[in-house]
Amino acid sequence: MEKTLIIIKPGAIQRDLSGEIIRRFERKGLQLCGLKMMQLDEDILNEHYGHLIGRSFFPLIKESMMRTPVIVCCWEGYNAVEVARHMTGATNGRQAELGTIRGDFSVSVQENIIHASDCVENAELEVKRFFLPGEVFDFKKRSSKVLYAEYEK
Ligand code: ADP
Repeated sequence: MEKTLIIIKPGAIQRDLSGEIIRRFERKGLQLCGLKMMQLDEDILNEHYGHLIGRSFFPLIKESMMRTPVIVCCWEGYNAVEVARHMTGATNGRQAELGTIRGDFSVSVQENIIHASDCVENAELEVKRFFLPGEVFDFKKRSSKVLYAEYEK
């Protein structure tokens, strides 16, 4: 079963949107398998946003991501990466479709509420980056039987 990483960014923490965001992924049918609050630092952000080093806004996103602690969540499901990305919406909150998390709660490119892993390979790296071994749980819930058709398993 695929796992993906969601970070509830400081903007969402400050606006008390954490519960709403977690609720959306839960109601969709993804299974929460890891959750913690943590304070990000320069080192982890240089690694996590390494693809943006050199961009003019790079110092600003790091500053924004360190403004308060964040909540990191690991969600599991079939095609969990694609499902969560779809629910997240476009990077620019002003352009993100209504009904997506960014589309409903953001009017900004930088302050776009959550991070969601963009591909399976990165999701695997990111879960390892933010969670220690033993902080992500593998367990079966009774509801998993009704979430998918037998042939999807
Ligand atoms: P995404 O988070 O949608 O995968 P990126 O990986 O391109 O997007 O960017 C990482 C984060 O950097 C974005 O979520 C956003 O907070 C910030 N960001 C991206 N592009 C810009 C920009 N042009 N100006 C300000 N912040 C940006």
